[in-house]
Amino acid sequence: MSKWVDPGRGAATTPPRGELSVVMARSRLPTPVKLRETVRNLVLDHRRIVDDDQARQWCRRVSAVLERLPADPPAALLLDLRAALGITFSESGACARDGVRAAEIHRRNGLLLRAAMAYGRAAVLMSFTDDVASALDLATEALVCLDERPTDPRVLAAEDRHHLKGIDGQTEPALRSVVFNSLGILCTEFYAYDRARELYRRGLADAEICSEPGRTAALLNNLAVSHVYRCRNEVFQGKTPAQAGLCEAERVARRLAALPLLPRVTQVMAPRLLADVLCEQGRVQEALENLRRASRTAAGHEPGQLQAKINLTTARCLRTLGEHDLAKDQIDLASRRAGAHAARSLRLTIVQERSLLREETGDLEGAIEDAWTAGEMIWRRHREQLGGLAAQLWDRAQAEGERRRLQHRADELARRAGQDPLTGLSNRRSMLSFLAALPAHEPVFVLFADVDAFKRINDGYGHASGDEVLRGIAEVLDGSVRERDRAARWGGEEFLVVVTRVEAAAACEVAERIRSGVSQLRWAVGGAQLKVTMSIGVAGGYAACVDDIVQRADEALYQAKQTGRDRVVQR
Ligand code: GH3
Ligand code: MG
Ligand code: MG
Repeated sequence: MSKWVDPGRGAATTPPRGELSVVMARSRLPTPVKLRETVRNLVLDHRRIVDDDQARQWCRRVSAVLERLPADPPAALLLDLRAALGITFSESGACARDGVRAAEIHRRNGLLLRAAMAYGRAAVLMSFTDDVASALDLATEALVCLDERPTDPRVLAAEDRHHLKGIDGQTEPALRSVVFNSLGILCTEFYAYDRARELYRRGLADAEICSEPGRTAALLNNLAVSHVYRCRNEVFQGKTPAQAGLCEAERVARRLAALPLLPRVTQVMAPRLLADVLCEQGRVQEALENLRRASRTAAGHEPGQLQAKINLTTARCLRTLGEHDLAKDQIDLASRRAGAHAARSLRLTIVQERSLLREETGDLEGAIEDAWTAGEMIWRRHREQLGGLAAQLWDRAQAEGERRRLQHRADELARRAGQDPLTGLSNRRSMLSFLAALPAHEPVFVLFADVDAFKRINDGYGHASGDEVLRGIAEVLDGSVRERDRAARWGGEEFLVVVTRVEAAAACEVAERIRSGVSQLRWAVGGAQLKVTMSIGVAGGYAACVDDIVQRADEALYQAKQTGRDRVVQR
């Protein structure tokens, strides 16, 4: 049996028009098409930024656009890209706030993967500003969003709905690889190198799927860097570094240098990184050769942090060769170029390098001072405190994810407890609590509806057909009430509709619409056409005396039955 006519649908009232102030505000906004084009252009330009000046200029343009944009997904996209600049360039504090804003907007819109990405970046930036507690909270949010994402098919459609794919063309694995990259950087900042490498490897797997050389390059670079940092810390503590790590770092660095179609920043990054690894291995001449190549490509146009890293590796090579004065110049340059808000790992490396140089040139007091600073950075604050916190991160994310899943389940159960399983409408219990929650002076109308001669349908066509009829009626009811009203299956073939804040005439109009909608329903049963009618009793009053209203509506219904059925009677 199948239902083939359903004119009751679409009878719902149109939603009220927006208020004047909203309309006025909208008129000042760019049109959606123009807006998409502006955002798309900014996204394209973002990819071409190669130095600090261009980064600052781009940020100013974004500020101007954001002033005219509502807090919606395209705005969040720009905020997140600005946060991304903070990782490579300066001003981490302001950029961290951008990242958090972006994440919150994305999350509200159901774009959980993008929310995870923005939270991850914000976490890295917070760690640069030494706000460890916030960094961990944000990283937890990133992991939870990443974890929540695949469970709901509606979430997958959200990307398309907000046209973001159309604007920046990001695919799912691409977005995920950025999340892993950020969390890996965060772990490196916490000196949790093994965890960082695990994350970079997962990010790499995703980056390879989307075959974007820039993304793969960033991950390869960070993977090798985490090896180098670990090795350097071991040297600084007087230990012999594990050679296996350096060998892998070299392999990764060479793979990075051999990638085709590298963006310009990466063309500088690759030989610089290789130089770093070679220098740690004592192959200083080869390292210097690579540094020269990096500097030639950079020609002063790269981000300050990347230039600082070139200076630092150069300093290390020069120190190894006994060129102490030149090495000192390079360290000073690195320190200036890195700035106060550079990554913690870069700031630490600068202090370590200066300490080693001072020690070699007999400035023991200075060397000890730097060693204390480095020790403070690594030991007192990180190995004991942050290292422990980084390990907690996963537990926290897991616990938070579990709490939210349980909450979700509880919400779902509560929803089902108030729902009639046959029709999907509210059940009597849910209707009773809806009525109880209404303010005492709320004007309400109760529509008490009962299917006419329903027993005949059951008897003549079978119980299953009767059920099908009840479902069809429920659809008409559901389509006839506004958001703030409620339709429920009161029991058997009786339904209750509650309409709030309307005059009697409007309530009767709703009742009439339902009656007529139901009378037009048709079902095909074994060649015959099945139709039904409904009688409805209507009564109104204040919510405070709802029992009395229901009673009067029931009486009105009785009267409708007595006077011939298929009609609305008001009392
Ligand atoms: P009228 O209201 O017009 O006086 O006649 P009626 O035949 O509709 O009245 P009555 O209240 O006597 O019959 C209601 C019938 O509804 C009896 C019961 O078998 C049937 N019914 C109640 N709940 C369900 C249900 O969930 N599914 C089906 N198929 N039938 C149900
Ligand atoms: Mg009945
Ligand atoms: Mg009946």
